[in-house]
Amino acid sequence: MQNKIDQYAAEIKAFATAKADELEAFRIKFLGTKGIIKDLFEEFKTVGPEEKRTFGKVLNEFKKLAETKYNELKETQNSELTTQNSDLDLTLPGDGFNVGSRHPLSLVRNEIIDIFKRLGFVVAEGPEIEDDWHNFSALNFPEEHPARDMQDTFFIKKNNGKDDIALRTHTSSVQVRMMEHGKPPFRAIMPGRVYRNEAISARAHCFFHQVEGLYVDENVSFADLKQTLYHFVQELYGEGTKVRFRPSYFPFTEPSAEMDVSCTICGGSGCNMCKYSGWVEILGCGMVDPNVLENCGIDSNKFTGFAFGMGMERIANLKYVIRDLRLFSENDSRFLKQFTAEML
Ligand SMILES: [Zn+2]
Repeated sequence: MQNKIDQYAAEIKAFATAKADELEAFRIKFLGTKGIIKDLFEEFKTVGPEEKRTFGKVLNEFKKLAETKYNELKETQNSELTTQNSDLDLTLPGDGFNVGSRHPLSLVRNEIIDIFKRLGFVVAEGPEIEDDWHNFSALNFPEEHPARDMQDTFFIKKNNGKDDIALRTHTSSVQVRMMEHGKPPFRAIMPGRVYRNEAISARAHCFFHQVEGLYVDENVSFADLKQTLYHFVQELYGEGTKVRFRPSYFPFTEPSAEMDVSCTICGGSGCNMCKYSGWVEILGCGMVDPNVLENCGIDSNKFTGFAFGMGMERIANLKYVIRDLRLFSENDSRFLKQFTAEML
């Protein structure tokens, strides 16, 4: 072992190079993870206790020799590099780099998911291209029923002369898929993009984003719905935010309600955002209609459930006061940059 070390030590001492690749080869040969020094330390483990004392010292000195040599040559190469390139001014400030930012809708989406995850909800997703059954029929929209006109639909394909395949108009279709393929209890939220055949303006767009929630189990009541949404609003807009429920109509819930919160901008005293009413609507909700449960193969005598749905753009709007819906999809970096700090 001593002979080997002496031989290598002589080689190291004699080694000289000004080339970066040769120096790298030297490093790999002696100091690399599969290099000579690593091997010698492996061999060292096998020698007797007497020899260990002598060789331990020798080996450590040898390692130091190789490291010193490498560092010296590296240093020389670096300084040569600097002097060779006279154009290089090391005193100049470095190039700045742009910190990316999350899209405001992603920020809102993540926050909503966080709140509901803490309540035991899981996240579910489904296809954006849906058939009539999942988007309408299973959700208690009878054929030819005027309720279907509530949503302007982008139909893609006809089946037997009838409109069948469409871009989903709401994320409620994911609820149907979930209930069809599983057994209660269900406790999930479904964030996703939805499509409506509307002219694009500051207040309407042909696509937007929703988050829907569904809770189905035995003995789920409207009180559970109210408490869940009350908690959600306190978490999202802060303690003390007031809520109120107004009766409403949706084909897939009975009874149905719309929920308002005390205006997040003026706190209820009246402003432009709340049209001086002190309240802003944020979501629709209700008890899942027994027909919907039965359509999905769930016994409506045994199970009840609640569902709610909200537009993410609406939630983001109330949080960041974004007055034009089109900003969410135009990828204008001046708009997006404003949310950089939110990420940190
Ligand atoms: Zn207001």
